[in-house]
Amino acid sequence: MATLEINDLHVTVETDGGPTEILRGVDLTVKQGETHAIMGPNGSGKSTLAYSLAGHPKYTVTGGSVKLDGEDVLEMSVDERARAGVFLAMQYPVEVPGVSVSNFLRTSATAIRGEAPKLRTWVKEVREAMERLSIDPAFAERNVNEGFSGGEKKRHEILQLELLKPQFAILDETDSGLDVDALRVVSEGVNRVREGGDVGTLLITHYTRILRYIKPDFVHVFAKGRIAESGGAELADKLEEEGYEEYVKGGA
Ligand code: ADP
Ligand code: MG
Ligand code: MG
Repeated sequence: MATLEINDLHVTVETDGGPTEILRGVDLTVKQGETHAIMGPNGSGKSTLAYSLAGHPKYTVTGGSVKLDGEDVLEMSVDERARAGVFLAMQYPVEVPGVSVSNFLRTSATAIRGEAPKLRTWVKEVREAMERLSIDPAFAERNVNEGFSGGEKKRHEILQLELLKPQFAILDETDSGLDVDALRVVSEGVNRVREGGDVGTLLITHYTRILRYIKPDFVHVFAKGRIAESGGAELADKLEEEGYEEYVKGGA
């Protein structure tokens, strides 16, 4: 089983006032098969962690390490990370003009698997995955994210997750903006992928709501650019009652 190991990760982002440190020593180990919820107040650096793991060029790693089975992830290009099995579902997925969902998925699968999936089985695989997520078949021919509703974007993320089968999935605010029905469909998709047994999931969220559908093995409170506390699922219940106040008060 693969292990993703984040050690004392420090990351800065370029702002008008020069480089600003956002991640201040993140330590986290995720094994395949485990689900970790990362919860924290807005602006604590959760998305910065997700983007840094995916290799977004805006974020500069100034210290620490990220290793996938001992291999240095930070040395890998974005594509190499995807091929190595690290998948990021974006909080604000970008539009890809002129590229249909169907082509986008096949191109991604080809990049990750190293060869194009056989067309006939692939079409069937996509159709079945879409059915499970209650996605209209016509959706496959639409351009990626063009005019997608919030719920369609999230379903599309989970569709990618189901079809691309990464070793590690980073889901950033997958629950935001979903109504209860869409939340259930999306959560069921995540749970199906989990039941496959070989995905390690980082479920990043501000709210505890999605944790009623997806039971995490570990909960981490993220505050001021690092993990302030870790525990089991019961920590989410405490956060639901008490909020994040105790973690944000006081100086940096
Ligand atoms: P969260 O996802 O927990 O809400 P973010 O990682 O989005 O937090 O942001 C953490 C902090 O870093 C915020 O103060 C935010 O303004 C800043 N930040 C993040 N990304 C950028 C960026 N690309 N440019 C400037 N500031 C950024
Ligand atoms: Mg440090
Ligand atoms: Mg965020």
